[in-house]
Amino acid sequence: MEFIDLRRQQLIIKDNLISRMNKVLEHGRYIMGPEIAELENHLAAFTGAKHCVTCASGSQALEMVLAAWNVGSGDAIFTTPLSFIATAEAIVRCGATPIFVDIDLSTYDLDASLLEKAVSAVQQVSSSVYPLPAICRNENMALRPRAIIPVDLFGNPCDYERLLAIAGAHDLLTLEDAAQGFGAKYHGANLCNCGCTAAATSFFPAKPLGCYGDGGAMFTNDPDLAARLDSLRYHGRVDSAHKNENIRIGYNGRLDTLQAAILLAKLEVFPAELRARQEAARRYSGLLEELAPDVKLPEVTPGSTSSWAQYTIRLPDHANRAAIMKRMAEKGIPTFINYPISMHMQKSLEFLGYKPDDFPNAKKAAETVLSLPMHPYFEPGEQEKVVEALAKALAAEAR
Ligand SMILES: *Cc1c(COP(=O)(O)O)cnc(C)c1O
Repeated sequence: MEFIDLRRQQLIIKDNLISRMNKVLEHGRYIMGPEIAELENHLAAFTGAKHCVTCASGSQALEMVLAAWNVGSGDAIFTTPLSFIATAEAIVRCGATPIFVDIDLSTYDLDASLLEKAVSAVQQVSSSVYPLPAICRNENMALRPRAIIPVDLFGNPCDYERLLAIAGAHDLLTLEDAAQGFGAKYHGANLCNCGCTAAATSFFPAKPLGCYGDGGAMFTNDPDLAARLDSLRYHGRVDSAHKNENIRIGYNGRLDTLQAAILLAKLEVFPAELRARQEAARRYSGLLEELAPDVKLPEVTPGSTSSWAQYTIRLPDHANRAAIMKRMAEKGIPTFINYPISMHMQKSLEFLGYKPDDFPNAKKAAETVLSLPMHPYFEPGEQEKVVEALAKALAAEAR
């Protein structure tokens, strides 16, 4: 069994895939070919956002939006400690300081009720209000609250109503990290268009909508921001009519035409895949309730639909996760930990000076989560096999 079965998807889309890739080989415009604009139009229509600007990766999407806002030294950017490292890296790369805000353990997303506290702590330069990085604690340096990066972890939308209310009250920009949430919905709106100033997503092969390499996209309803992003991804050029006039320091940040062609083929089956993911998640939850009642099931934020990038459970506190994973692997069932180390405890971010217990929920999640195989192409009986193997491993380890 594969953790994410991309082969079965490929069999279904193969003819379309090959014909679209051949078209690119024929016209030969490998950089910024016609498929780029075609894909951007489709992605904008899919999300409902006015503008889509594709780019080289999800990581670069995050960084370029921050760069477009001139985020830099002295800026405080609020985000979750439980995410892929790229979320915090983008902040540090821009010269700003990540301010972590603990997660809600039932949804794994940033806890909106703690955000207000974290903003106050930065404003008052007081880590007794909420844990702050060393730069605030030791040097009494007042950072300027600039933006929030909410992450739709595992595909589960954040509580945008509350997050956006706080952002509005404190004049904060909002950058949705929808690398895992693309295709999900919040209060009827598609993610990447649910009220944030901008959104970033990733087309890394394992994401809900993935290409065959690296890729990403940025979304916004603000035409000026879209124009700046379009310029930034192409070395800061004025626009496509003035390729050699550069007005800002930019990036080599474009999506390849071939990847756009691949994504156009995948986008055609994406709505059906999202429905299949809902079905697979429902099936997992039913089986787990029956066969492994001790595990904590993933909860979807009220009023929303997850894209189910991951189906992630939490094991009982006493369970030996490594031993359970090993027992499942012996039966041919791959499992994964997203993420074994909360970002506030990563070596690369050690300079922030956070302490392990600053974010107890993120720490607990990192210690106890387990992701099960998840994709839209399960065959009958496969999910039963996963859950049975898990139940047996839990029972064996409890002995
Ligand atoms: C994958 C991911 C990214 C980075 O995307 P890449 O395309 O791999 O650069 C950023 N944030 C989150 C939450 C992700 O899951």
